[in-house]
Amino acid sequence: MPVVIHLPTALRPMAGKNAKVPVTAKTVGEAMDVLTREHAALRQHLYAADGTLRNFVNIYLGEVDVRGLQGPATPVKDGDELLIVPAIAGGAPTAADELTREELARYNRHVIMPEVGVEGQRKLKRARVLMIGAGGLGSPMGLYLAAAGVGRIGVVDFDVVDASNLQRQVLYGTESVGKSKLAAAAARLKDLNPHVSVVPHEVRLTSKNALELFKGYDLVVDGTDNFATRYLVNDACALAGIPNVYASIFRFEGQVSVFWAAKGPCYRCLYPEPPPPGLIPSCAEGGVLGVLPGVVGALQATEALKLLLGVGEPLIGTLLLFDALGMSFKRLKLRKDPACALCGPNPTVTQLIDYDQFCAGRGQEAKPMTDVKVAEITVETLKEKMANGGVVVVDVREPHELEICRIAGTTHIPLGEIPTRYKELDPKAEILVHCRSGMRSMKAAKFLKEQGFQNVSNVAGGILAWAERIDTSLATY
Ligand SMILES: [Zn+2]
Repeated sequence: MPVVIHLPTALRPMAGKNAKVPVTAKTVGEAMDVLTREHAALRQHLYAADGTLRNFVNIYLGEVDVRGLQGPATPVKDGDELLIVPAIAGGAPTAADELTREELARYNRHVIMPEVGVEGQRKLKRARVLMIGAGGLGSPMGLYLAAAGVGRIGVVDFDVVDASNLQRQVLYGTESVGKSKLAAAAARLKDLNPHVSVVPHEVRLTSKNALELFKGYDLVVDGTDNFATRYLVNDACALAGIPNVYASIFRFEGQVSVFWAAKGPCYRCLYPEPPPPGLIPSCAEGGVLGVLPGVVGALQATEALKLLLGVGEPLIGTLLLFDALGMSFKRLKLRKDPACALCGPNPTVTQLIDYDQFCAGRGQEAKPMTDVKVAEITVETLKEKMANGGVVVVDVREPHELEICRIAGTTHIPLGEIPTRYKELDPKAEILVHCRSGMRSMKAAKFLKEQGFQNVSNVAGGILAWAERIDTSLATY
């Protein structure tokens, strides 16, 4: 039976520099005999003096170690491929990281670079990367990591594709709207590269599941946009001893760094505690230029690939700032904080904590915002109250949002100006606060209540609900 024997790089010089040798044989043992007869120099590398195969040499038939079959007596059939896999220094490769001909062709532009080569490509194939979030940052990261041949890509997300995601989340198409992000992402990534495995984790990352989840991965790329998850990812990576490729984006600006507590600072060294809730708007509230997560996510993917390949200088101890408007990059040096509660010499954070609580209200001196109760009204009630008169309706959106749509007869104070301008409002009046969807206005309403305003309500669903149910002529965004 004609079969092909694939030789590892180390043995090729002994076989006329051939990567593969065709032989005719009925069993594995016979094939090896023919091989070592044709290339005598191989014999001493493969066989011990007593004629048995050296125990650091494994032979695979297809993807199966022949020791698990019938050893040298394993029959071979026409077209079978045998793989000789010796133990080599720097990590023993297994058949699982051998590259097929299709893979070598696909990764050609990697393999021809000395910094990557076949060895680097195999490292990528062995690599296991966990992506937190499959949104704006996750889209380019997922695409480039899959295209590059990262063997296992875990994705944590539990969201559904929304039409408003498509402006920046290039992993999805119009067809995916309404579908699970994980299912759509897995399908797209598998289509991009069937040689990689995409592992969906349809869960919300929590203190309870993070460490168990991180165990199966070499590094984490964080594509989330909330502080609670950011601290959770940071802490879990430090406790698991793996690097965290971090990024954050807002409007036209991005930040990228690599937090790896074993080799440099962590996120807590940079920001020991989160900003008070409401101070920093999220992308959902403040907006983001569609291409920004594309640029920043691609930078994150670059850092991840460098770490996996072990080349270049990763952003450990460096915070990279990107400004799309000025088209400029700045590098800031980050230092490990000797007093860091997580990675300092006397850590107080030795296990995962409640991050929602950590980020919601810090300490007893600041009254946690969750304690303040604000009534919510529907847009139907809003319409009725406005018709009856005597209420003050405050729109807390940004000025440019008003140009898209607004409800006539409202007072405009952007959320960020509420703390300095709330005295313009009559504390005895009935105040109804609205924004786009109801999140910012809730913050504003809570703030007003804290300042002693008694009669404050939040308009649930904001102007989007108004446009859907009251005035359908309004443009939405
Ligand atoms: Zn730290």
